[in-house]
Amino acid sequence: MREGIIVVLVLAGLWLVMPPRSKDTGDVAVAPAPEPAGDASSPQGVLAPQEEWMVIAGVTGQEAVATGAAADAAAASEAYSRGITALESERFSEAASSLEAARNAGDRRALVPLAVALWKAERLRDAVNAIRNAAVEQPENPDVWLVMGEVMEAVGDLQAAVDAWEHLRTLRPDSRLDERIRRARADLKVRDRWRSQVSRNFSVFFEGPVASQVAHTTLDALEDARRDVGGVLHYYPGRPIEAVLYTRESFFDVTRSPAWSGGVFDGRVRLPVSGATDPGELRRVATHEYVHAALHSMAGDTIPTWLHEGMAMNLEADEPSYAWARSLLMDSETVPLSLEKLGWPFLALDEEQANVAYAQSFVLVNSLLTRFGHYKLRDLVNGLATGDQPLADVYPRIYRETLERSMERAMADLRTREESGWRRS
Ligand SMILES: [Zn+2]
Repeated sequence: MREGIIVVLVLAGLWLVMPPRSKDTGDVAVAPAPEPAGDASSPQGVLAPQEEWMVIAGVTGQEAVATGAAADAAAASEAYSRGITALESERFSEAASSLEAARNAGDRRALVPLAVALWKAERLRDAVNAIRNAAVEQPENPDVWLVMGEVMEAVGDLQAAVDAWEHLRTLRPDSRLDERIRRARADLKVRDRWRSQVSRNFSVFFEGPVASQVAHTTLDALEDARRDVGGVLHYYPGRPIEAVLYTRESFFDVTRSPAWSGGVFDGRVRLPVSGATDPGELRRVATHEYVHAALHSMAGDTIPTWLHEGMAMNLEADEPSYAWARSLLMDSETVPLSLEKLGWPFLALDEEQANVAYAQSFVLVNSLLTRFGHYKLRDLVNGLATGDQPLADVYPRIYRETLERSMERAMADLRTREESGWRRS
């Protein structure tokens, strides 16, 4: 189970997928964390078997005894185990402390997991130092370069990220990496050659044909979204967020998202625009994608897709989704999806199922907002963000009923209510 943990954590933040979306919503989301059985994504495992690492570190049991360092080795090993356990439970600060102790006591197994913990705990400068140390000590370890790429991207050094992934590709080819590199290279070009406008909390990059007025409207919409959504979530991302405006053609080239997609969040907000883009629609899509950005910043990959999409749709400016969702879900032909399916990326669904998934997500969150207000929703996000407990435990603690029961109520609401009961004040 422990093998693959780093890749699982890394991939959870990285391989952001782009589910199809309902035609009138515009979007995409971040993938929730995959099941912690990620060996498939890590054919060689991530952490070498313990024995192997002990040999590499020169602290096999026999040597330790021989040098009288057995007690130190045992303490280091214990700290390492505590660190890995904390990392698996996504208690990143705690993981970082334990793994730091293990590393300082000479346990080299801790090098890469320590960098992951620091990165996930948002101690980015320390993460850079940790992964650079790991690269010096273990240049042949592919995981060093995988994590190096993530950390460098997190600190905004895209070129260093691409270099790390290129090197990783020589050590451990992976077709998903090719896609990552392709997109990062495109982003490098955007940064070097495209025009940009910057506000306090956002940078908007835009291609030549995109009018600077459109960029200005987007920037304005994102700042408004930050204020309004922040008022609901009581959360404001600490780091600036980048948005990229593409012509429609290059949007689909770069993101390879479905033809009906109106925007993407994959760490950056990416929007297709044209001269004919209606400013109101632009504001709506920008707000929707900002919600994904804020939730991702707030709670990493702990948020199920229904919550991501339900919140994004409910917090969109002037959202008209209720009538659409209501008529779709009350149609006798419509087959609702299970809550389990709604928790996973909608990518695997066909367009018809995706529409149902978005509608269910919308009405569930709408019902929660109407019945309990946004404070409890915020509690739910915060409860999940710690990563300590699964949704099945966190949810009933906050709502005093099961998620299944809430969904039943949401569906019942549809029969008695003609319009959305929740208004953002
Ligand atoms: Zn979305």
